[in-house]
Amino acid sequence: MKTGPGSLAEMDYSVLQQCMHCGMCLPTCPTYEETKRERHSPRGRIALMRAIADGEMEVSKAFGEEMYYCLGCLACTTACPAGVDYPQLFEAARAEVEEAGVLESPKRNAIRASVLRGLFTRPRLLRLIGRLLWIWQASGGQSLFRRLKLNRLLPANLRRLEPQAPAINRQFSHQLIRPVERPAAPTRRRVAVLTGCVQDLAFSDINRATVDVLLANDCEVHTPPVQPCCGSLHAHNGDLATARELARRQLDLIDPDQFDAIISNAGGCGSHLRHYDHLLTDDVRYAAKAIAWSAKLRDIHEYLVEISFRAPTAPADAQTVTYHESCHLCHGQKVSAQPRAILQAIPGVELRECAESTWCCGSAGIYNITQPETSARLQERKLGHLAATGAGTVATANPGCHLQIANGLSAGGDTTTTVEHPIVLLARAYAAEHSRP
Ligand code: SF4
Ligand code: SF4
Repeated sequence: MKTGPGSLAEMDYSVLQQCMHCGMCLPTCPTYEETKRERHSPRGRIALMRAIADGEMEVSKAFGEEMYYCLGCLACTTACPAGVDYPQLFEAARAEVEEAGVLESPKRNAIRASVLRGLFTRPRLLRLIGRLLWIWQASGGQSLFRRLKLNRLLPANLRRLEPQAPAINRQFSHQLIRPVERPAAPTRRRVAVLTGCVQDLAFSDINRATVDVLLANDCEVHTPPVQPCCGSLHAHNGDLATARELARRQLDLIDPDQFDAIISNAGGCGSHLRHYDHLLTDDVRYAAKAIAWSAKLRDIHEYLVEISFRAPTAPADAQTVTYHESCHLCHGQKVSAQPRAILQAIPGVELRECAESTWCCGSAGIYNITQPETSARLQERKLGHLAATGAGTVATANPGCHLQIANGLSAGGDTTTTVEHPIVLLARAYAAEHSRP
C-alpha cells in the first residue's frame, strides 16, 4: 500500500511506542464508557495503529470504522501519564484509512469531494451558500417548510439533520469588522484575529465580540476580510493534503512576525491551528514560518489572561452561568482555567460548575452526522448535567459544542436557557460600562 507523509508506517516510531498499556485513560474515554470494549479504548486503538505500522495488520474496513468511532475528543491525552501524542496518531490513522480507501462508497466520496474539498476550501463560495441559507431562513421559507412538515419528503439522513442546521447571521465577519481597528487608548499590542468558517457564518457576533474585548485591552486588531478555513475539519477527517494546503494559505495571509499574537476563539480550530508547525514540518518553504505561527497562536481566553485583561466594571446580562469545556480547548489546548477566570471577572456572574464539564457533548467535528446514536447519547448526558446546575446560561467556546447544546435544549423544549461564548459575555460587560447612566 502507498503511504503518504504522516502515515503510521512513516511516523516517528517513538510516538507509537509511548503507550505503556497502563489503562489510566480508560475511564475518561467516552467510547470505551459506552461499550466497555478494549478496541473502543485509546489503548486498544493505539495497539491497532501499532500493528499496522509494524505491518502485522492491513488497514481494513473494521480498522477504518474503529478510527471513525473514536470521537477525537482527546480526553485520553489529559489522563495519560506517559504523554502519548494521541492527536498525531489519530490524524495519521484517519489519513491511512482514507488513503487505503477502505470506507469508500460513491455517496461518501461525493460528500467528501463537495463539502470538504469543494466548499470548505472556498471561503467566498461558503459565504454565498451561507447567504442563500440566510435568505431561506429570514424569508420564512424554513419555518413554512417545517410547519407544512415538508421535511418528510427529504431522505432519512437529511430529515434528521435539517433541524440541526445553524441559524445564519445577517452579517458575516467582514461586514462587522474592519480589516484594521485601533483602540481608543494608545496601542500596547498588535494582534491578528482568525474568523473561521462556520464561526464566520453562524457566529460572526462572537468574532465581533473578540475584536471588541481586544480593543478594550489596548490591542490593535487586524482581521483579514477573506480567510480560508483553518483545515481542522480536513485533518480530523484524514485529508492531510488539503489541511496542509489550507495551512499554507493562512501563512500567506497572516505573517506571524508582524504580530504579538494570532488569536483564535474556536476551541476546535485553535487546537489544529497551533500545530501548523507539526503539520508543515516537512515543507521546505513553510516550515520556519509555521514554527513562528505556532509560537504566536493563542486562544482568546488564554491571551486575555496572559496580558492581565482588565476586569469590567459593569455586569453582563447573564447571572447564573455554567461552563461546558470544548474538548479541543481543554484537552487539545489545555485551556481550562482561563475561560472560568474571565467569567468570574464579570460583575454579577455566578459560575456554577457542572459535572463532567470536560466530557464530550457528542458534536466532535461531524460526529453527530457520522455516528448519530452515540452523539445523541452524549448530548443527552451533557444536557442532564447542564440542567442540574440550574444555570440560565451555558457558556462554551466552540461552534460545534454551541450548536450541539443549543439544538439539544431546543429539541427538549427549553426556551429559556441561552448558550453564549464567554467572550460575548465579557464584551457585553465592557459595552455596559458606556451605557450606564
Ligand atoms: S480521542 Fe476521545 S474517544 Fe478517542 S480514544 Fe481518546 S478519549 Fe477515547
Ligand atoms: S493512559 Fe496513556 S500510556 Fe496508559 S494506556 Fe492510556 S494511552 Fe497508553
